[in-house]
Amino acid sequence: MNHYPEAILKLIHSLSTLPGIGKKTAERLALHILHAPDHEAAALAGDIIELKSSVRLCTSCFALSDTDQCRICADPARDSSVICVVENPTDMAAIEKANAFSGTYHILGGALSPIDGIGPDDIRLAELFNRTNSESVSEIILATKTNVEGEATASYILDRLRDSKIKLTRIASGVPMGGDLQYVDPLTMQKAMEKRYGF
Ligand SMILES: [Zn+2]
Repeated sequence: MNHYPEAILKLIHSLSTLPGIGKKTAERLALHILHAPDHEAAALAGDIIELKSSVRLCTSCFALSDTDQCRICADPARDSSVICVVENPTDMAAIEKANAFSGTYHILGGALSPIDGIGPDDIRLAELFNRTNSESVSEIILATKTNVEGEATASYILDRLRDSKIKLTRIASGVPMGGDLQYVDPLTMQKAMEKRYGF
């Protein structure tokens, strides 16, 4: 591979840092970009720069957004008194895909994991409790993953809000143990949301 000019080697290196892209695929992609029309290559580079400069986090739910408030938080048709707590944007996307939920979200940005040194201050729990204190919230749906970290996170939130008047529910039915929400099919997700249980 070393026979390539420096610029190609650099691009191969950059591409191979992406998840799922090995050296061979990176080489194929770099050569594809090299042979692509100038405007296509420029558009790709521009899209990456625009992504980094325009996408930020929603100030309410911390979803990825290109405005201060994401489309879901800003939508008057969504019930802002029901908050579905998820670990990551991909979990939120899985629930949205199932079309089974008309409330809003709170994205924690991870789960509690003492082994990995991730404590309550490392995910957006304080922000969640701020919302439950300052907004009129009727229900919190705990939709963290069903693995050890997800369960620990759900229990922590449950403990903190147990004495509040907020209804606390957990989706689990049909979501496989240890399951990542993004691999749950939409129908199973709909059922899991319908059959959520209270505490
Ligand atoms: Zn939002």
